[in-house]
Amino acid sequence: MKAELLRELRTSTDYVSGQSLCEKFGVSRTAVWKVIGQLRAEGYDIEAVTNRGYRLCSYPDIISGCELMSRINTEWAGRKVYFRKETGSTNDDAKYLAEEGMDHGSLVVAEKQTEGKGRRGRVWESPAGDNIYMSLLLRPDFSPDKASMLTLLMALAVADTISQLHPELKVGIKWPNDVLINDHKVCGILTEMNAEPDCIHDVVIGVGINVNQTEFPEEIRKTATSLRLEKGDHIDRAALILGIMEMFEYYYGMFVEHQDVSAFVSVYDGYLVNRGKEVRVLDPKGEYTGIAEGINDSGALIVNLPDGSAKAVSSGEVSVRGIYGYI
Ligand code: ATP
Repeated sequence: MKAELLRELRTSTDYVSGQSLCEKFGVSRTAVWKVIGQLRAEGYDIEAVTNRGYRLCSYPDIISGCELMSRINTEWAGRKVYFRKETGSTNDDAKYLAEEGMDHGSLVVAEKQTEGKGRRGRVWESPAGDNIYMSLLLRPDFSPDKASMLTLLMALAVADTISQLHPELKVGIKWPNDVLINDHKVCGILTEMNAEPDCIHDVVIGVGINVNQTEFPEEIRKTATSLRLEKGDHIDRAALILGIMEMFEYYYGMFVEHQDVSAFVSVYDGYLVNRGKEVRVLDPKGEYTGIAEGINDSGALIVNLPDGSAKAVSSGEVSVRGIYGYI
């Protein structure tokens, strides 16, 4: 009821009477008053005026389940939120909750991760309070070989949302899973799948976004950035999460319809920072260089090799670097 009550206050242009809230939720005045008290304790500024009711004057920068669920406008993505103040890894939480029957589209969100993960056992730095760490659970009915494309969908959803909310920022994607601002990494995505050879049980897409962080550890200082550092302003994290859920739901619908990324190849390529540039493909079977052309309908990166042939590089175990550095 807390999230619904908050939504009522949010969507009303006038005071909301205590009586109408009691009737709407079928609870007593005391129960309404108690929830108002809880919201105030969390930092919501709610005015109470005799004979008029309650009015939401301002709200804090928090990404609690209540905050997100009171603002979400999607059909299914992120409608159910599991919030953690601190956790090991939101991907691990989502995988555990998937076993427990958590719904398609549920979202685990945390303020801090103690074991944030990148690809191939790497670490995702996840300090408390300033950023977004979240994992979306999907229960798709397409075949497992298509799941790696979901990483591209999420990268696109993140890039689009940042561009829409902060049009002054120059957003790019380093294929397949990094979102960059001014060529520095602001977001990493880790997709993990639980599947049998011909059927997916569930997929978890983890997203880490540096939002309001202003200092980075030595190891990543040169490549990492945050939205706040690039924009020079504090950023509303909840608005970002909600926008990403909307955009992901939109792209996911197209992906399921076409069973590939053909409907948004050109949008993705428009963000590609390596497009038309020489790249080094760090393939465990052997490193090679070529000119990155863009992605194909399966989300592979097309790299034109010096011998004139073209290679479709699938994400999996491969990393792509610029010829002189990170991009
Ligand atoms: P590659 O480019 O080789 O594919 P990656 O960029 O996909 O690697 P990820 O697994 O997405 O790597 O992310 C982990 C890497 O990102 C770490 O090894 C570290 O270099 C960097 N990193 C870790 N935490 C952060 C952070 N909070 N912000 C930016 N970069 C980070």
